[in-house]
Formats: sequence, C-alpha cells, structure tokens
Amino acid sequence: MWEDLEVTVEKSPEAARKAKPAPDTLGFGKYFTDHMFMMVWNKELGWHDIKIKPYQQFTLDPAAMVFHYGQAIFEGMKAYREEDGQMFLFRPKDNFERMNRSAARLCMPRFPVDKMAQWLKAFVYLERDWVPTAPGSSLYIRPTMIGVTPALGVKPAAEYYFYIIASPVGAYYAEGFNPTRIYVSDEQARAAKGGVGNVKVSGNYAASLYTEEVAKKAGYTQVLWLDACEHRFCEEVGTSNIFFVVGDELITPPLDGTILPGITRDSVIKLAESWGVQVKQRQISIDEVFAASKNGQLQEAFATGTAAVISPVGELAFKDDVYPINNGKVGELAQRLYNELQAIQHGRAADPFKWVVRVG
Ligand SMILES: *Cc1c(COP(=O)(O)O)cnc(C)c1O
Repeated sequence: MWEDLEVTVEKSPEAARKAKPAPDTLGFGKYFTDHMFMMVWNKELGWHDIKIKPYQQFTLDPAAMVFHYGQAIFEGMKAYREEDGQMFLFRPKDNFERMNRSAARLCMPRFPVDKMAQWLKAFVYLERDWVPTAPGSSLYIRPTMIGVTPALGVKPAAEYYFYIIASPVGAYYAEGFNPTRIYVSDEQARAAKGGVGNVKVSGNYAASLYTEEVAKKAGYTQVLWLDACEHRFCEEVGTSNIFFVVGDELITPPLDGTILPGITRDSVIKLAESWGVQVKQRQISIDEVFAASKNGQLQEAFATGTAAVISPVGELAFKDDVYPINNGKVGELAQRLYNELQAIQHGRAADPFKWVVRVG
C-alpha cells in the first residue's frame, strides 16, 4: 500500500520567498527555508496529505497529546553543496530507519524509508539555493513527528504530523577546530537501561537541560554523562557519542540500550577500522579515563555527531579535579577523521562505504 503514496508539490510564489541570510551570519538553526515537507497519519487513511509546500505555521488544539505526554521524535541530518552545484546527503536512510525505531518505541506510526528518502531528495533539490557552499556550512534537515490528537488520558495519539524543515547553518567551528572543556556529571543521568536513551525522542533533550545549565555556569561547554546505575561508566557527551584513544586503541561505549546509535559514531568506527585502528566497543569507566590521563596513556578524546562531525575534548572536570587531554590540543586521529569525513560528505573523497547520496 505504501507503493501508492505520492507527494504533491506546492511551490511558494517567487514574490513570497525570503531573502537569503549572509553566509557569515548563519549560525545554527536561526533561519528556515521557503518550503517544508509535511504529511498526516490516522488509522483510516494511513499516511496522507503528503506535501512539499510553502513553509508555514500550523495550529494545534491546546489538548494535542504531544503537549501533555510528549509523543515527539526527531532526526538531524545535513545536505552539502559544492561550488559547482552538486549536492549530497550523508546516509539519509540510516536516519529514517533510526526514526522508525524511535517511532516504534513511542507507539507512533512508521513510514516507508525508501519513499521518504526520495521525497527528501525532491525537497532538498527544490531548496537548492538555500544550501550554503562556504567551507563547513550546510543545510541542516530536521524531520519531526508529533502526536496531535486533542485528548487527555495517557495513550497513543490517533493522529500524527510528520514534517521536515530545513535550516542553512554555518561552520560549527567559526574560530577553528577547538577542543572543548567538558563537565562530568555524577548527579543526574541521561538514560537508564529499558528507557528511551537509545532513541531520538524529544523528552531526552528537555531532561538534559538542567545539567547542561549547571555545566555552563561552571564554565564548561558540555556534559559527559555517566551511567544511571553506578555513575561510573561513560555514556555520551551532550548530544554526541564519545570516543577515547587509550594506548593504541580507540574505545567507545557499546550500544547496550542507553546510548544513541549515532550515524557519525558508526562512520567513525568503520573508517578507523579501515585504517587499521583497533576499535573497541566496550564499557569505559571514568576512573579508567582519569587513570589513563595520569599515566599518559590517554591520548585523545572526541565527541561525534552530525552537527559538529568531530568535536575534540581538551579537558574533563570532575568534582574538584581537572584532567587535561593531549595538552588541550586537537588529536591526530580526531583531525584525520574530521578531514576524511568532511571530504566524503562533500563528495570530494572516495566513498568506499557508499554513504553519500547525490541530490539532483
Ligand atoms: C543525535 C545524537 C547523537 C549523534 O547522532 P548522529 O547520527 O551522529 O548525528 C548522539 N547522541 C545523542 C544523544 C543524540 O541525540
């Protein structure tokens, strides 16, 4: 039945189109393009009203279930454009497959991944003039699904909106590729086994705000989350996955239910392995990290995610102690991974894993 689904395209009139912001003012998530993708689900019709249409507001009843019970999931991905106009998406089906896993976890409807990937290409192609070309810039793409039925009582909504908006974003590292200072939290936790830490559900981010504020007040950029049970094992940094280089091994926590399976994480593992790096997906305690820092075995730490690709960690703070990493400098492996991933994402390097999808 999904084979029959087709998208209709309603273009915004030329006169209604927005002015494009200057490339050096983009920042992150401040501007939105002229169009959006949207579709609606209910039991009778399944997915319907599938449209690429002018970017617009929608109204929701104050009782819409998303406001009360948090049935909301999202994704984050990017389109890249070269000076010659070629555009690329990076592993888009992996994002949509992950979104379907998030949907299943929150009792929301799944959608056809292949169709969605085609519709996304059509949407990005329509918005091609919005995809910036300056080094490090891209079009950030935000698929979102919410439960909209107006009703109280905890149960799955009967109607859902799925939409995609897009935002031109500037280089994440405006002042160069700078290592961050990270605050290790042993009070709050991000995710517990059996919970929703392994899916991209909106409530996870609301739950992280308090600790992020504590970290910022103390002068740190991000939080390193430890496991919810013992407050010992490293899990994630902010909304990124974490990697450590200890001795000659690249170590990242395993996907055992509390960690979001990052597409950048998976790409880093595959690239590093293809270079002959020993990659271990295993638990790593904060004590082991600090011990490795003290005895000189801890060479690098970096976070991975779509927004920054690779974010080197220059310092970890825990209670009253501060642990420098690689003298606060960018590590060799972090730099090499960053360069190579960027080159692949922009279609400039060989793509042995077939990650890149050309648009138009
Ligand atoms: C989105 C996200 C990541 C990174 O995933 P990518 O697919 O690499 O962008 C990591 N951790 C959390 C908690 C996330 O929400």
